[in-house]
Amino acid sequence: MALLTIRTAGDPVLKTVCAPVVKIDKRLRKLLDDMAETMYASDGVGIAAPQVGESIRVCVVDVDVKNHNARHDLINPVITYREGSVVDNEGCLSCPDLFGDVERAAKIRVEYISRFGKKKSLEAEGLLARCIQHELDHLDGKLFIDIAKNITKGRKNSEA
Ligand SMILES: [Zn+2]
Repeated sequence: MALLTIRTAGDPVLKTVCAPVVKIDKRLRKLLDDMAETMYASDGVGIAAPQVGESIRVCVVDVDVKNHNARHDLINPVITYREGSVVDNEGCLSCPDLFGDVERAAKIRVEYISRFGKKKSLEAEGLLARCIQHELDHLDGKLFIDIAKNITKGRKNSEA
């Protein structure tokens, strides 16, 4: 595995709508592993492909910050169900030191393709639901600072 360079706000790749993945192969799995390693090295809980310069619809999430034991690799993810709404503070690996309050659905269901090409579905709430919604925004070229309120400098919460 290898550490990748994280792109930061101002880089046009972060404003680009990503293309769906058409081929799931060894190269894609290596990208997912490198993204995970990069996320763990940066103490993040999620990372999307455009954050490492790839305009494709994949992201990696793991909200188990202690043991790194809850990793999900999401390929072509689509949120098919949303329930409720909750405002919480978030950050982003691509917006170092910035934090802000973002309203997100409290519970979601996301459908996606696994790293081995299987159709999957995941129900999430809490930090995992927030993180997945944050990463899916990246795939549409959106940054949390575009929608956050009360943006401040300084670490408050997990970064994605
Ligand atoms: Zn982010």
